[in-house]
Amino acid sequence: MVETISPRSGTAFTLDRGQTLTVIDPEGRQVADLLAYSRADTREVISSGRTLDYASRLYLTTGDRLYSNRSTVMLDIIADDVGRHDFLLTPCSKETFAIIYGDADPHRGCFGNLVAALAPYGIEPDAIPVAFNCFMNVPIDGSTGAFTVEPPLSRAGDTVTFRAEMDLIIGLTACSALQSNGGAFKPIQYRID
Ligand SMILES: [Zn+2]
Repeated sequence: MVETISPRSGTAFTLDRGQTLTVIDPEGRQVADLLAYSRADTREVISSGRTLDYASRLYLTTGDRLYSNRSTVMLDIIADDVGRHDFLLTPCSKETFAIIYGDADPHRGCFGNLVAALAPYGIEPDAIPVAFNCFMNVPIDGSTGAFTVEPPLSRAGDTVTFRAEMDLIIGLTACSALQSNGGAFKPIQYRID
């Protein structure tokens, strides 16, 4: 069954070892922040630093593995229509909108949405790390390291699929940042098989 995450919101759910999670961009050019925690011990969490170190590459796609802070594989990417995702940047937050956009009354962002969705699992705000940002397009200048946030390359109906390698709690959002999504807020969908 396909579930829908409304624009500028988020959710959390469990994913059992062996199950697959397909993240769908139904309208195109929309980012979804993905977090994973071990259900056995929620202090074990998805780690950008470990994963990028082992991959030796910033752009991850089919065949790449997402590691925890304890260097255990949490998720494998088993299918990917887009091939451009970000694993450098933290979830957008109230502060993001104040600092980058100068918003006077900022939205709580993916960070606030994840805090709310993960609270019932006992996960605290300070335990939210860099998310795997599905479809987020962050081109990087290889010589200077300068980067920009550009509209996603995903088109309507594009997907990325992960297989759980341990029992997980997943946090997932429809990103709240205009810059990430080409200037429009859209939903995200997902399916568990
Ligand atoms: Zn966001």
